[in-house]
Amino acid sequence: MKSENDIIIVGGGLAGLTCAIHLLKSGFGVTLIEKNHYPQHKVCGEYISNEALPYLRWLDVDPTQLNSTKITRLSISSATGKTINTELPLGGFGISRFTLDHFLFEKAKQNGCNFITDTVNSIDFKDDVFKITTAKTGLLNAKIVIGAFGKRSSLDQKLERGFIQKKSPWLAVKAHYKGDFPNDLVALHNFKGGYCGVSKVENDHINICYLTDYKSFKTYKNITDFQKQVLYKNPQLKEVFENCIPLFDQPLTISQISFEKKEPVYNHILMVGDTAGLIHPLCGNGMAMAIHSAKICAELTIQFLNSAISSRAVLEKKYKKEWNQNFKSRLAIGKLLSGIIRKEKLFAPLLNLLIKFPSILPEIIKKTHGKPII
Ligand SMILES: Cc1cc2nc3c(=O)[nH]c(=O)nc-3n(C[C@H](O)[C@H](O)[C@H](O)COP(=O)(O)OP(=O)(O)OC[C@H]3O[C@@H](n4cnc5c(N)ncnc54)[C@H](O)[C@@H]3O)c2cc1C
Repeated sequence: MKSENDIIIVGGGLAGLTCAIHLLKSGFGVTLIEKNHYPQHKVCGEYISNEALPYLRWLDVDPTQLNSTKITRLSISSATGKTINTELPLGGFGISRFTLDHFLFEKAKQNGCNFITDTVNSIDFKDDVFKITTAKTGLLNAKIVIGAFGKRSSLDQKLERGFIQKKSPWLAVKAHYKGDFPNDLVALHNFKGGYCGVSKVENDHINICYLTDYKSFKTYKNITDFQKQVLYKNPQLKEVFENCIPLFDQPLTISQISFEKKEPVYNHILMVGDTAGLIHPLCGNGMAMAIHSAKICAELTIQFLNSAISSRAVLEKKYKKEWNQNFKSRLAIGKLLSGIIRKEKLFAPLLNLLIKFPSILPEIIKKTHGKPII
C-alpha cells in the first residue's frame, strides 16, 4: 500500500466514499475527513438512477442487499394536479442516505480507509503539496486532495469560490413517512414555487422531499402551514400527505442551495459530486453523477500516482475535460427543465404535448441521464 497521506478526501458523502472505496480497491492508502458521524439522514429525494448500478457492483456494493426498492415508473403532475405517467428508460432504486452512506462508510473502513471525524477549515497548495488544516486534528499534508464536501460548505467560503458569493433562493425539506405508496413509482409533483419528489425507500418507508423558493416559503408561519396552504393546492400532493404518517419528529431542512456553475478543479483540488456541480433535483440524477465523477477522479488519480500521467497540470486538464464531457450538458438541460416546470404557463402546454406524444418524455429523461457506468 502507498503512503497514507498520498490522498486526502475531504467529505464523506456518496462521492467521497465511493472515491475512497475505488482507490482502496486499487491498493492506495486514503485518509477521509468527514465532519459528521454516521449514520445521518440527509435532505435528498433518495431515488438513484440505475446507471450507477454496474459501478456500485464493481465496488462490491449491492443495494438490493440493503432492501432497496426497485423503481420503474415515473409520474409527473402540474401544480393543478394534471398528470402524465411513463416507464423510466433505465429505472432506478430507492434507498435512504441514512442506510447507503453508512454502508459505504463501513465498507471503506473494512477496506482500510483512515477515517478522521473532523471539520476541514482550510486547504492550501504550495510547492506541489497540499496543507489541510482541521479543527481538532491539526495540520495534514497530502499529494492529492479530492474535494467531496457537498453542495455548500464553509470551505467554499474560505476558498473564495465564485458561486458562494451569490445568494441562492432555494431551500429543501425532507422527511420519511409510513403509508400507502407504490414501491415501483417515483412521483414528481409540482406546486407554486417548487416541486416535490415522492418514492419508497427500504423498510417500506416513503421519502417525501421538496425544493421551494424562499420567497414563497417565508410568508408562512411554519412547514405544516406552508404544506397545507401551498403544496395541498396540487390534489395529488394533498392525497399523499393526508394518507401518510410522519416518522421524523421534525422534517430536515437545508437552505441556500445553489445551482450556479462551479469548477471541477479549483486551487488544484479535484472536485467530485456536488462540490463540482449540482444538477436540479427534478432530474433524479445527482447521486449517479456524484458516483460517476468519483470514478473518473479515482481512475485519473491512480494514473497520476502510478506516473502514467506525466504531471499535475495534465491530470487537472484531463479531469476537467472528462467532467465536462460527461456532465456539462446534463446540468444545462436540468436548468432549462427546472425553468419550464416551475412556470405553469410554460409547463401546462408542455404537459399537454407530452400527453399527446408520450414517447417524447422518455427522450427528455435520457437527455438528463448518462449511460450505465462501467
Ligand atoms: C432537495 C434535493 C433532492 C435531491 N434528490 C435527489 C434524488 O432523488 N436523486 C438523486 O440522484 N440526487 C438527488 N439530489 C442530489 C444528491 O443529493 C446529491 O447530488 C448527492 O448528495 C451528492 O453527494 P456528495 O457526496 O457530493 O455530497 P454530500 O452527500 O452532501 O456529502 C458531502 C459531505 O461533506 C461533508 N463536509 C462538508 N464540509 C466539510 C468540511 N469542511 N469538513 C469535513 N467534511 C465536510 C458533509 O458533512 C457531507 O457528509 C437531491 C438534492 C437536493 C438538494
